[in-house]
Amino acid sequence: MSGIYIHIPFCKQACSYCDFYFLTRGELRQPFVDALVSEIQSYKDSKFAKESVQTIYLGGGTPSLLNEKQLESIFESLHEVFLVDPVEVTMELNPDDVTPEYLSMIRDLGVNRASMGVQSFDKKILEFMHRAHNPGEAIHALEALQKTGFPSFTADLIYGNPGQSAAKLKRDIDQLLSFDPPHISAYSLTIEPKTRLGKQVELGRINPPDDDRVSEHFDLVRSELQKAGLEQYEVSNFAKPGKEAVHNSNYWNHENYIGLGPSAHSFWRDKEGAKRWLNQANLKNYLNNPSGSYREEEENLSPKTLGEERIMLGLRTKWGVSEKNLEEMYDYRFSDKQRKWIEKQIKKSFFERENDVFRMTAEGLKISDHLVVDLLALGE
Ligand code: SF4
Repeated sequence: MSGIYIHIPFCKQACSYCDFYFLTRGELRQPFVDALVSEIQSYKDSKFAKESVQTIYLGGGTPSLLNEKQLESIFESLHEVFLVDPVEVTMELNPDDVTPEYLSMIRDLGVNRASMGVQSFDKKILEFMHRAHNPGEAIHALEALQKTGFPSFTADLIYGNPGQSAAKLKRDIDQLLSFDPPHISAYSLTIEPKTRLGKQVELGRINPPDDDRVSEHFDLVRSELQKAGLEQYEVSNFAKPGKEAVHNSNYWNHENYIGLGPSAHSFWRDKEGAKRWLNQANLKNYLNNPSGSYREEEENLSPKTLGEERIMLGLRTKWGVSEKNLEEMYDYRFSDKQRKWIEKQIKKSFFERENDVFRMTAEGLKISDHLVVDLLALGE
């Protein structure tokens, strides 16, 4: 069982906070699709094409900038090369690209889960983020999902914006919930150094909200979503029962996946060992040699590294980590120091234990990154 991630590296404009790999040069879209098809073909008859593909995820960038013919050729070659039998095919969509016709078209191609980049319904906040869409387009896109009866969808929300009051955030949450989403990803605005926002913060032109404000926003998001039946199952992800994202959950569980397109990561684990590699984040090189672009920064992963990753990823989820699973899958055992530390965190209500499973409480999840670093530092 495996997954496929495809990175579509194009956007209409650069959002102020974004540090993903993308370009705004539309004329390169068709050459990119041709190169992507070549990259897919390069996997033909390889061991990677012999496992059944359970999930496909089209991310970016903005996959909804591709037209029907381009998407068709991508899906056709995926079917030709891989054993595609997916339970979940997700495509990221930007609201300004979405029409009922576009949704019907991607549904016909097999997409059964739309990931809508809403972020906010507030005009000023969307402008501050330099998003390409406006509030009306976000509403129309969500209406179109309802109108076409799209099988499933998720929407992104960003909180912790400068100047965003709790009341404004509550309005965003209420508006999103009025569309009864089965899944929501909610992120706090992060300031990445090489972005436009990062530079503005560095120059002192923008003051990001302090940690208390962000924590207050997070509490609001969590309690409002919980009231609507969306349970927090990962630090940034909320879902109705059974609507958790399969593709992302597979990342957290170390299932195999192949990443296609510039800047995509791959992970593969079999009897020969475990490897992770990265496609170079360079479209020019990718266009020249799509199948040669893979395996940059190839890394062999030891069982210890995998065990640590499992702890790091598992503790971000409601499922936590099982000691038995750590031992069986990764030969990883907690040291005495780690055990003592975990007991302390249980007393402080940051961790909880059920049989051999450790997980973070809602309070622990708020500071999960710090807790994981401390825990791993005490390992042998
Ligand atoms: S649309 Fe998405 S990928 Fe493109 S710039 Fe905005 S946040 Fe980044």
